[in-house]
Amino acid sequence: MAASTTFEPVLERIAEEVERTPGRGRPAGYIPALAARDPRSFGMAVAEPDGSVYGVGDWRRPFSVQSITKVFTLALDLAREGDALWEHVGREPSGNPFNSLVQLEYEDGIPRNPFINAGALVVTDRLHTRTGDAAGELLAFLRAESGNPGLGFDVEVAASEEAHGNRNAALAHFMASYGNIDNPVPVLLDQYFRQCSVAASCADLALATGFLARHGIRADGTRLLSRSQAKQVNAVMLTCGTYDAAGEFAYRVGLPGKSGVGGGIIAVVPGRCTLCVWGPGLDERGNSVAGVAALERFTTLTGLSVF
Ligand code: GLN
Repeated sequence: MAASTTFEPVLERIAEEVERTPGRGRPAGYIPALAARDPRSFGMAVAEPDGSVYGVGDWRRPFSVQSITKVFTLALDLAREGDALWEHVGREPSGNPFNSLVQLEYEDGIPRNPFINAGALVVTDRLHTRTGDAAGELLAFLRAESGNPGLGFDVEVAASEEAHGNRNAALAHFMASYGNIDNPVPVLLDQYFRQCSVAASCADLALATGFLARHGIRADGTRLLSRSQAKQVNAVMLTCGTYDAAGEFAYRVGLPGKSGVGGGIIAVVPGRCTLCVWGPGLDERGNSVAGVAALERFTTLTGLSVF
């Protein structure tokens, strides 16, 4: 880990500005294990393609990764099955909440994109069929890319999700009725809830996202995705990564990004760096209030964006 003269001043400045911001939103209420988080917690990390990482605030404190895992399962499945995946899940923004059911009936059980819950369930199902352990595959990948062998599942969060999992179960059963789910629904849900429950810090996730800034190359120099596939994942993050606020996120931040209801957001400046920010207070669309504000300040202050 090198000392930076580039990113540390800007991170300090952003943290001070966030500290002065009064409204921070509310932690996710539907998973009781997440509801207890202090909405004023804040951390942010930036990683460079060479593995250097810088941070501010609670950047080394683990939080619940939740839907950010959808980026990694997508990449892992795409690396295995290639374009055949896109016969089972679309690539269009949904304009609906992340856990919505309504579009599935009109689109024959093919979810709009891999980053809403329905789409992520399809991706996890396919990855599970190919690997026999989708959640384990994800965890091994996150450990390797972050260089942190201590990453693990949070069993309390996973149990809490299962206990409040009727909507995800409904999504999975509904898609299964169209033949778009391979595994028995209880098996898939167990994988999905464990996947969402991974606990990791901003530093871990900024590093683990590095393959998207390195155009598909993993931390050890091997290739996970083709350059073109890495571009595709970044594009889907830009258009679909923050659910029905993806247009607003692109407008304010100008980067591919993916949020989770644990309050984390990852973002990518292809070729230059990856970011992860965490603030557990969410807006009504399920995105971190402090996280979006901090990323907006980062791209404004540094001029780094895809536009
Ligand atoms: N585990 C959550 C769910 O499936 C993930 C949602 C999210 O982070 N947006 O509802």
